[in-house]
Amino acid sequence: MARYTGPVCKICRSEGEKLYLKGAKCFTPKCPVEKRPYAPGQHGRTARRGGADRTSDYARQLRAKQRARSVYGVLERQFRRYYEAADRKTGVTGLNLLQTLELRLDNVVYRLGFAENRAQARQLVNHSHFTVNGRRADIPSMILRPGDVVAVKESSRKTTFFKELVDLAEKRPNALWLDRDLASLSGRVLRLPERAEIDNNLNEQLIVEYYSR
Ligand code: SF4
Repeated sequence: MARYTGPVCKICRSEGEKLYLKGAKCFTPKCPVEKRPYAPGQHGRTARRGGADRTSDYARQLRAKQRARSVYGVLERQFRRYYEAADRKTGVTGLNLLQTLELRLDNVVYRLGFAENRAQARQLVNHSHFTVNGRRADIPSMILRPGDVVAVKESSRKTTFFKELVDLAEKRPNALWLDRDLASLSGRVLRLPERAEIDNNLNEQLIVEYYSR
């Protein structure tokens, strides 16, 4: 599945806020949003992003959708498919959508603290370093379910990267809806994440409004 490969810090700068797409750098003064708190590009300091109707309903809905896409690293076509699937499910469409995004394999690897950011998680999954329920899993968009167990592949655990990862992962927070075991570098999906456990800079209501126009 295709992915965005451009400079991610520009996304934060054009959104005008930190989206924490890099990892450790996001928490240092080196973060470009702190160093250059204006939109990227030649006219970034002066341009009014979104033009005159920046505060229109459509503009706010579009920005909310684009922000969520950037946070999870999903392109438009797949994001729309997630929305359509969430809409067909029983329950609240917006929450269904966010839960689907959270249950992507690359996001679960990130939430377990096994990667610094979602892009790195995606690369590690692509490079076949993980198993799901004991079977090789190299598709970052795979949607997990409660009960599924994600683990670093036996042969990968011997590599320097994963040996050092244990110490790093210990310092990273683990989502409460996941049960992490650092000794075996694995984690189980205990349940669906609740809304409060998902990033609060995402506005699922606006995303739903965007797609139901
Ligand atoms: Fe965004 Fe992180 Fe880059 Fe800062 S360092 S602009 S928060 S991705």
